[in-house]
Amino acid sequence: MPHSRRVIAAVSALLVVAATAPFSARTQDWKTIETEALQTLQRYVRINTAVPPGDVSKAADLLQSILEREGIPVTRYESGPGRSIIVARLKGTGPAKPLMLLHHMDVVPADASRWARDPFSAEIADGKLWGRGSFDMKGPGVAHLYAFIALKRRNVPLKRDVILMAVPDEEVGGGLGAAWMREHHLKDIEPEYILDEGGFGSRDLFTKDKLVFGISVAEKKILWLKLIAEGVAGHGSQPHDRNPNDRLTRALARLVSEPVTPTKFDVLEAFRSRVGELAANKFNNAIQNSTISITSLRSGVGEPPKVNVIPSIAEATIDCRVLPGTSREAWLKEIARRLGDPEIKVEVVYEGPDPVVTTRDSEFYRALEAAVRARHPDAIVAPMIVPYGTDSNGFRPLGVKSYGFTPMIVPAASVASMHGDAEFIPVDALGPAIQILFDAIVTTTTR
Ligand SMILES: [Zn+2]
Repeated sequence: MPHSRRVIAAVSALLVVAATAPFSARTQDWKTIETEALQTLQRYVRINTAVPPGDVSKAADLLQSILEREGIPVTRYESGPGRSIIVARLKGTGPAKPLMLLHHMDVVPADASRWARDPFSAEIADGKLWGRGSFDMKGPGVAHLYAFIALKRRNVPLKRDVILMAVPDEEVGGGLGAAWMREHHLKDIEPEYILDEGGFGSRDLFTKDKLVFGISVAEKKILWLKLIAEGVAGHGSQPHDRNPNDRLTRALARLVSEPVTPTKFDVLEAFRSRVGELAANKFNNAIQNSTISITSLRSGVGEPPKVNVIPSIAEATIDCRVLPGTSREAWLKEIARRLGDPEIKVEVVYEGPDPVVTTRDSEFYRALEAAVRARHPDAIVAPMIVPYGTDSNGFRPLGVKSYGFTPMIVPAASVASMHGDAEFIPVDALGPAIQILFDAIVTTTTR
């Protein structure tokens, strides 16, 4: 082949590569990013942001300094003492509303005496990064950060803004975090899409021996109830039939003795039709059923309660998480039926909003699914509902398409470690998650 034709062939081969995968990285670039991400995650976990007290200012400093070093402008808000909020933005050229990566910087407290390692040392051992927040959710937050940084480093020509937002207070309801931003500065962000925590990939959690990625499109409704039984006080030596403890314990036994009737819910049907029968575990139970947990019992006279005194009142709290498709009224009626005692008072102490389900018929959902499949051709990707609450749920009633998803592959043990005393993520889960996120964001924001 003459020299000039060879050059043209080489150039056109490059152009083909460029056209099919315009911003996909050279392997070396991803290695660098992965190494940086892991180091950043260690530094991030080492900053104790447990709430209470929930001071995240040092964590915000860390994120801000990394972003500014990359030349990315950061707006910082302070919703209260130690309650910093970071909003970083990569500008796009088109009219479409932003895609926002949302994570929380706060973590739940860790009782160091119950941990085999210092929960804030971010030690790497056995291929795992251990520490409070490694999974919930500094690990996912760092995946956001480096997918975001990769967009900047590669000068990806964005048609819409991409925002990275980091907030405090998620673990205590978001009042000074995501909810505060919605209330005071919604105009500064106004996303069309949010990516937050929620779903993930696993080879053993959802079902044995299949790689399943669940993308969360909805959350259950929270109903926290207090049950109150009233009776007549008396001497423990002379039992009588108006003892409120007897009444309450019998009713509680009836409450939990019967399994909850499964609800029909299309997200769940879609999940099961792709995954098949789910493994029997507490997570899968909670994503398939409305649930009831008895969380406290309070009774007795005096502190500590006197053993020989029958009290006049006994109380219990129950945490109900209700699937979409069951109304508040229907659920309260079901609780009353199960208790089987009209004299037990049922008070609603907290009620979450009615679930709003985000559509799967969107560019970003399809891009997430495609990016996972491109990397893991054997994977099942399915929409799911998560049993816990997250910050992005509060954006759904505003019409924001919120997805809860970190494309890390984690073992069931990692999921069970959230809020527990051995929280970890597999070290090798982080790099692929960054690349999948990057690909999905590029697809959604460059056309
Ligand atoms: Zn979380």
